Amino acid sequence: MEFSFSKEEEALREMLRGFAKNTLKPQYQHWDRTHEFPREYWRKMGELGVLGVALPEKDGGSGSTAVAAGIAAEEISRGDFNMGYGVILGSLVGDILSRGATAKVRQEFLIPMLKGEKLMAIAVTEPEAGSDVRGIRSEVLRDRNGHLRLRGEKSGISLATVADGAVVAAKESDGISLFAVTLRQPGVSRKLFDDMGTRPIGRGSLYFDDIMITEEDRVGSPDQGLRSVLTGFDLSRVLIGLQSIGAALESLEETITYVKEREAFGKTLAEFQGVGFTLAERYADLELLRWYCYRALWLQDQGLPHAAESAICKWRAPRAAVDAIHDCLII
Ligand SMILES: Cc1cc2nc3c(=O)[nH]c(=O)nc-3n(C[C@H](O)[C@H](O)[C@H](O)COP(=O)(O)OP(=O)(O)OC[C@H]3O[C@@H](n4cnc5c(N)ncnc54)[C@H](O)[C@@H]3O)c2cc1C
Repeated sequence: MEFSFSKEEEALREMLRGFAKNTLKPQYQHWDRTHEFPREYWRKMGELGVLGVALPEKDGGSGSTAVAAGIAAEEISRGDFNMGYGVILGSLVGDILSRGATAKVRQEFLIPMLKGEKLMAIAVTEPEAGSDVRGIRSEVLRDRNGHLRLRGEKSGISLATVADGAVVAAKESDGISLFAVTLRQPGVSRKLFDDMGTRPIGRGSLYFDDIMITEEDRVGSPDQGLRSVLTGFDLSRVLIGLQSIGAALESLEETITYVKEREAFGKTLAEFQGVGFTLAERYADLELLRWYCYRALWLQDQGLPHAAESAICKWRAPRAAVDAIHDCLII
């Protein structure tokens, strides 16, 4: 058993912690309050290789491990939870495109996406089909001139209102297929959700009104769409876990600094056991899940199955993070 990070992974952590602390964190509240999407800093993440950490270098990725992608998700989210989406979506969409995209799609979307020049959404969920991906209704049909047409509605899509393109899941006669389409064209419309949080990432709905697509836009073979999305979710679920844990650990550290300084009734807040016990308990929960997430990523790096582990990460880590941040707010 080996529980340590490699030298390269430690160096990545240190570099990203500095970037998150000095560059992202000071602006986090501004972006959150104005709902402004920080495109310039997204591009900066592309320059740092954060948008395609575990993707092959030949596709413009950093050629590193899934564990390194986890480090990126955790560290970026310490500075700005919303920017953590860059790591997650870059890994998920990047992996799908890297495996199945045509030369045209690689040039048009994959390479600029990894540089942070284009934003790519993944559009699977629909109003009537979330966890039950097979239940989607969006479809691709041939019109009477033989052209492929995409129609349907996607809902709850991260970056929906700011993305340049999207990988869209739609039904065909063979099953569920994926297509990479530009969102900047007639026949595509968008609607912003009034979310309670993560507002800069512009989550919302996408509507496709019989837009014309071609075989070159297809990603993977016609019946492989569902499989590549579900395989991709095995990684993105763990990254979401580490995104949540990163933000919560940062909150915890801020709170620990605060309770060591603030005094009440003649001593620091840290000296009250009611405060110390709460923070210790939350730290323990986060630390346990943090290592569980890295184990899931290690399994991915070994090419071993990890669907159950990644589901546990997505289920438990955000919950532990919410509890920790809530306690930090109360203290
Ligand atoms: C922050 C955020 C970002 C997202 N970004 C994206 C994105 O970029 N792209 C994308 O495609 N999607 C995205 N989603 C959508 C997300 O993937 C869906 O929310 C998820 O698939 C679950 O679908 P659902 O919300 O429709 O709920 P579902 O899980 O489909 O549930 C619908 C209803 O059925 C019930 N239900 C479900 N399963 C069962 C069961 N087994 N037994 C009994 N009742 C059940 C639920 O309780 C609920 O009432 C995002 C969601 C969030 C919250």
